[in-house]
Amino acid sequence: MKPDTPETSAPDDAKARRAVAPVICYPTDGLPAPDMALYRAARAQLSQTDEVIVPPREARIFHVPAGHFFRIECTGGPQVGDLNLFSAADLTERFYSGKTRALHGTHLSTGDRMWSSFPHLRPMATVTHDTLDWYGFDEFGGSVHDVIGTRCDPYTHHMLASDDYHHCCHSNLIRALAAEGMDPKMAEGLVHDVLNVFMCTGFTRDTGQYFMKASPVRPGDFIEFLAEIDLIGALSACPGGDCGSEHSSDVAACHPLKVTVLAAPAGALAGWQMPAANGYRGGHGLGGG
Ligand SMILES: [Zn+2]
Repeated sequence: MKPDTPETSAPDDAKARRAVAPVICYPTDGLPAPDMALYRAARAQLSQTDEVIVPPREARIFHVPAGHFFRIECTGGPQVGDLNLFSAADLTERFYSGKTRALHGTHLSTGDRMWSSFPHLRPMATVTHDTLDWYGFDEFGGSVHDVIGTRCDPYTHHMLASDDYHHCCHSNLIRALAAEGMDPKMAEGLVHDVLNVFMCTGFTRDTGQYFMKASPVRPGDFIEFLAEIDLIGALSACPGGDCGSEHSSDVAACHPLKVTVLAAPAGALAGWQMPAANGYRGGHGLGGG
């Protein structure tokens, strides 16, 4: 624990040092921007090709071909979902929560993208619609669909509560991959930090601690994406339900989540291209590159 008061007294120029203006780490002007007008026109003509229901406190796998859309929808009641994305061609190319956060900020909404891990670092999916985009940031600094949390897991829970709970999102995602025939140890190595769909979170202003509050999501709300590459998705319906009180237990009311995969008519995405591999030539200065 940090001490209640600093152990070092402030220097004479503390005020001036604190007054230095911040600069954005990664100005995104130079990023390849999605053609949102094209995406919007295509999403107006979608037809469903697949549907997967994720039961409460469980996870399920879904497949989305590049150029198709997928939607995660709240059905029975407020419910948070923990989303993992993998390239269908190479499961080691996975969603990179930390770099996505550095590029787009703490929470994602329409126009933001889910980026993949090194050495790929390219858009895996683009948010094409978000019925909670009205929420913005509330008076506590909270917002929806975060990339600041990780995923609830049995290890942290055991440290804090000395209890073994098997339906944390981390374990749910492992079981969902294992149900597809994957060795559970390999699955555990592939599960990664998530996009916390519908989760309302932030950092407390006084202590900077990660907080959650009851999600504002209601039945009928959804977040929708364009798959920029062939994707395998894994979605867990978090045991925290709306994450308004506690997770990592069977206490909260939990509801199913619905995933639909949708296709646009032929030609509706004319001009769209699957993102190429990252252009860095590699080598890391070791020679030969
Ligand atoms: Zn969870």
